[in-house]
Amino acid sequence: MSGWDADVIVVGAGAAGLAAALQLATRSVRVIALESRDHIGGRVMWQSVGTVSVPAELGAEFIHGAAPETSALLREAGLAKVETGDASWTCTIAGGLQPTDDDFRSVSIFERVESLAGDESVEAFLRRFEHDPHLRVEAQRARTFVEGFEAADPAIASARSIADELRSGVDSTSSRPAGGYAPLFEHLATQCARAGVDLRLSTAVEHIGWAPGEVTIVARAANGAASTLRAKCAVITIPVGVLRQRGDATPFSFAPPLPAEKLAALAGLEMGHAVRVTLAFREPFWEELAAGRYRDAAFFRCEGSAFNAFWTQAPLRGRTVVAWAGGPRATAMRSTSAQDRIARACDEFGAMFGERDLARREYEGGVTHDWTADPFACGAYSYVVAGAGAARAALGVPIGDTLFFAGEATATDGQGGTVSGAFETGTRAAREVAGALETAGVSSKIAP
Ligand SMILES: Cc1cc2nc3c(=O)[nH]c(=O)nc-3n(C[C@H](O)[C@H](O)[C@H](O)COP(=O)(O)OP(=O)(O)OC[C@H]3O[C@@H](n4cnc5c(N)ncnc54)[C@H](O)[C@@H]3O)c2cc1C
Repeated sequence: MSGWDADVIVVGAGAAGLAAALQLATRSVRVIALESRDHIGGRVMWQSVGTVSVPAELGAEFIHGAAPETSALLREAGLAKVETGDASWTCTIAGGLQPTDDDFRSVSIFERVESLAGDESVEAFLRRFEHDPHLRVEAQRARTFVEGFEAADPAIASARSIADELRSGVDSTSSRPAGGYAPLFEHLATQCARAGVDLRLSTAVEHIGWAPGEVTIVARAANGAASTLRAKCAVITIPVGVLRQRGDATPFSFAPPLPAEKLAALAGLEMGHAVRVTLAFREPFWEELAAGRYRDAAFFRCEGSAFNAFWTQAPLRGRTVVAWAGGPRATAMRSTSAQDRIARACDEFGAMFGERDLARREYEGGVTHDWTADPFACGAYSYVVAGAGAARAALGVPIGDTLFFAGEATATDGQGGTVSGAFETGTRAAREVAGALETAGVSSKIAP
């Protein structure tokens, strides 16, 4: 391997990067993985809260739909998943909580997208139903779903892409890895180390120079030291929000620059914004209120507050609650500090039951992470902009059999924006790399 530092350099050690690195390394491909953070996982991140033994998720928590890639990895790691509880309550604008059997994921109004000649923004699509008293209510639910669940701005999100995603079934069921995502990602990191992946944390890629069959990557370690690495190709898993940065804010460059098709694909994707706060209480006080009415509550949806929703760990018993704001509500909180977000989440959760002071007394601790301000994420997860239905596929297309692209934004089967989608794209990119290396005469044994 004279002159080469590795066969492949994987940029980013989140779900996509770890999946790609592991797939390649277990098949004798020499892999260096460069990760700007001081830990693996990317937008899967965890932190302890209060005195709770299971760490709180700061990023991904749920497994959406069948999620074949995540399910297979969990099985391999000997880990289980737990179905999410479905007892939901809605906090009405007039005040008070009402049980609801209306699953917020079944937004059937999007089936009507089929009758459109082309694509349009979610907002333009939903306005079509403004004059119909029945459909107007459903349209408002759909808007709330797009803002809350997709973390998207309805004014620019593609109605057709949301309809396609719903049709894929990815939103139909949800579960969680038992014990959170941490054990799964720790397992993956161990497997990568065993397979020989040279993982370099706190190493941010600044420049990717390439010619067919060769990449030269300049990276900077946390202590400021720069290093230059050469490999036959690279798998790039950097989030769209980071790749899209322009001008002085650009954290790295490509030479030659990315071609027009890649820039067009990036312009067709937007990063959704979300604020997620995990609150730990001394006791699950809500379980005792109103003669135990909320004992099994899984979700509380809120129309009139800063947070769109709160959820518990149901069906598991726990004393943590997550507060969630997505889309424009998250953007509106942009300038508030972590401390203010946590305090507001605690107050709004208590206020739902008319028990703000009790919530304050029971509060033990809270954690949150500002994904929008995070320079290695620049948002929560991607969504497709109206009229740009092919953007995810186009972003995933390799360049010159040398630059390969993976990451949630390149997932095309309705799994865009998810952990499972990211795993799937890492596996797909590893297959593409293996094909390119074989053509170039480098042995690798990845099944087609
Ligand atoms: C608040 C929140 C809630 C979510 N909830 C869910 C959920 O419940 N279920 C679900 O399935 N998904 C959820 N997601 C989405 C999910 O977390 C992501 O889709 C998935 O983790 C993305 O994986 P990835 O590998 O594509 O990207 P990432 O995890 O972002 O990995 C990319 C890596 O590249 C690194 N990087 C960036 N720039 C550089 C550089 N210059 N040099 C080197 N490395 C670099 C980053 O640090 C990062 O580690 C959520 C995300 C957020 C933020």
